[in-house]
Amino acid sequence: MKPREILALHNLKRTSCREGIISTVLSAKYALSEDEIRENLAGNYDRTTFYRSFKTLEENKILHKIVVDSLLVKYALDNRLTKKKEHAHFYCKKCGTVKCLDAVVIENPQLPTGYSFEESEVIFKGLCLNCKETKN
Ligand SMILES: [Zn+2]
Ligand SMILES: [Zn+2]
Repeated sequence: MKPREILALHNLKRTSCREGIISTVLSAKYALSEDEIRENLAGNYDRTTFYRSFKTLEENKILHKIVVDSLLVKYALDNRLTKKKEHAHFYCKKCGTVKCLDAVVIENPQLPTGYSFEESEVIFKGLCLNCKETKN
């Protein structure tokens, strides 16, 4: 799906900043923080424009938020857009990358009667392959 199709799907106007943010997240191998998205964005946008566009995409659930801890929040494209299921994430303690574990699916957790499941935050922490190999 192209950035402009994603915006159209959510009835959002096309702006170069919105499209830029989506394509940055689309092409990233790992989940990115707000700063990383801003740094990787082609084109120069002032802080306000970027922040507003970013918030719009977050509020419309185009971006999926991954909260590692109170200091580290990363974003990837929402599951409904990528056709992924609710999944766990891996956080590398050394290089700080966050990867979607598409194969580690979180399905129908056993909840008390009447509770409904909306989202989850399952994060495995450790070392990624890169960091493991360069450990010593
Ligand atoms: Zn690493
Ligand atoms: Zn993910």
